[in-house]
Amino acid sequence: MDCIFCKIIAGEIPSNKAYEDDDILAFYDINPQTPVHILVIPKKHIASVDAVTPENSAVVAKIFETIPKIAAAAGLTNGYRVITNCGDDACQTVKHLHFHIIGGRKLPENMG
Ligand code: 5GP
Ligand code: ZN
Repeated sequence: MDCIFCKIIAGEIPSNKAYEDDDILAFYDINPQTPVHILVIPKKHIASVDAVTPENSAVVAKIFETIPKIAAAAGLTNGYRVITNCGDDACQTVKHLHFHIIGGRKLPENMG
């Protein structure tokens, strides 16, 4: 499959890893928007939030159980934002479900 994030999971494209277990990978965004910008992804390909089903949603719960640990380990002690872009209007560029953890400075209130 021609998916950049599946290639990162397979080790075919290098990444700066922040966390990894059997089901999840977290790595630093190549084009950070904030002082800390980490992407958290399921190892099993899911295209977007629109493709989450009762059969594959357990990994989404696991991602959210793990995000606080990833954020704390990255030094985000004063809060952070979790974002996922879904589809064209949200400017989703990589069609593999990913959650942005952004922080390291005060973020704007405006969400778009
Ligand atoms: P989206 O716009 O789909 O929500 O976010 C995709 C994110 O993936 C962008 O923030 C972009 O910088 C990041 N990204 C794209 N290709 C790579 C890559 O090869 N390595 C890393 N570390 N990040 C990537
Ligand atoms: Zn993928």
